[in-house]
Amino acid sequence: MSSKTILVWFKNDLRLTDNETWFRACEQGDTVIPVYIFDPMQFQKHPLGFPRTGSFRSNFLIESVAALKNNLRLAGSDLLIKIGLPEFIIPELVGNLNVSDVYTSQEVTTEEVGILESIKQKLEANRVDVKEFWTSTLIHYEDIPWPIKRLPDMFTQFRKEVERESSVRPLFALPAVKNFPAMQTDPVPTLEQLGITPSITDARSVINYSGGEAAAQNRVKDYIWEKDLLRQYKETRNGLIGENYSSKFSAALAHGCISPKFIYKEVKKYESQRIKNDSTYWLIFELLWRDYFRFVARKFGSKIFQQKGIRDKSFPWKQDVQLFETWRLGQTGVDFIDANMRELLATGFMSNRGRQNVASYLTHDLKIDWRWGAAWFESQLIDYDPCSNWLNWAYVAGVGNDPREDRYFNIESQVRKYDPKGEYMNLWLRGSDSKIPG
Ligand SMILES: Cc1cc2nc3c(=O)[nH]c(=O)nc-3n(C[C@H](O)[C@H](O)[C@H](O)COP(=O)(O)OP(=O)(O)OC[C@H]3O[C@@H](n4cnc5c(N)ncnc54)[C@H](O)[C@@H]3O)c2cc1C
Repeated sequence: MSSKTILVWFKNDLRLTDNETWFRACEQGDTVIPVYIFDPMQFQKHPLGFPRTGSFRSNFLIESVAALKNNLRLAGSDLLIKIGLPEFIIPELVGNLNVSDVYTSQEVTTEEVGILESIKQKLEANRVDVKEFWTSTLIHYEDIPWPIKRLPDMFTQFRKEVERESSVRPLFALPAVKNFPAMQTDPVPTLEQLGITPSITDARSVINYSGGEAAAQNRVKDYIWEKDLLRQYKETRNGLIGENYSSKFSAALAHGCISPKFIYKEVKKYESQRIKNDSTYWLIFELLWRDYFRFVARKFGSKIFQQKGIRDKSFPWKQDVQLFETWRLGQTGVDFIDANMRELLATGFMSNRGRQNVASYLTHDLKIDWRWGAAWFESQLIDYDPCSNWLNWAYVAGVGNDPREDRYFNIESQVRKYDPKGEYMNLWLRGSDSKIPG
């Protein structure tokens, strides 16, 4: 019998624990070659002038890939790192390394799906199989109670039926690692090699984000167990300042440094060992929102990026660059909006409360094309996830999964409720590092 060489293409699943793609490759291959590709298209400039992946996320990504390489080496394997277009690099590697199968995670958004389709076509002639594994959600795609075409258009219906009908699959353990062929591997690129200008760390950042699987698991341990913050998550989650008001799991989840199933299992353990309450339920509720947006993206394809959105709704959106720039740089003159936008600009993060307000302000007050706001978030957010970002934007803008016509946030009443003493606005408008960066 001929030996099986499997190429594992890591993408937004930068972990070894609970990663079916990696697990199956180690189980089924005689030789397993892990690969990560930095795609220059992801670092090119948006027509509005900023890079599609800005410095904060690029940095987190570099750290996560470096951590993956390190973990693989410790386990007796290694990671091939390439810079270039995957549609050319994967077929080239397959040819040069005598690969029989390619294993990778299944993506749902148009660009990623298009790239994989083009790779599949190129590999078909060589009779090389591409196998995709669903690794990104809490509830497996095959376990939702509808065919994707009939996925409910309202979250509440989705959640209720999933809670009744579906369950979370067990975690995949760390597999025994297979042979890595003797060859030279390149180091992880620097920001400069990706064409990205580094940014200065701002002391007011909510948390010191570090990429990689160990950092992600440490944050879970710290937030849930050591600081014991989960018991009050529902009461604190609308906060604005510091690392403790919410989990800050999003960046690790977006890059796949941790799986939502891993977090779920920790929550269940916490519920049995410490306390089960509304807060423990609410963290899982939020993870279901994340799942939902991924399934919606799968259902609607490229529509999630289009101006009319999944509801096919036309609005007279403005494309006024000057007005957009006042918003982007935190110079609108509306303090709560400016404080949030400056936090995003200086740190790559903004709270959920902030995101809802600035998105509402851009789309309902300034009436600027919602896709511009989504594009700026894509550039700037450390935790950018195409499904969560574009569908949350569409939701606030009135072209997404929301039965309400107008999801308008009244800034004055939001300030009264969430920043009554003006501490957050002071921090970002008058704080010690308050010069406007960028
Ligand atoms: C306009 C807009 C854009 C957004 N863009 C993104 C994005 O690109 N990436 C991203 O991960 N989240 C996005 N969100 C959702 C949410 O703001 C962040 O997930 C959250 O603020 C991250 O902080 P946390 O991990 O401390 O969240 P927590 O409150 O601790 O929540 C736990 C986890 O649940 C998930 N989650 C929570 N709220 C949402 C939500 N509304 N939609 C989807 N998942 C959610 C996240 O994975 C999060 O890490 C966006 C929200 C808005 C309104």
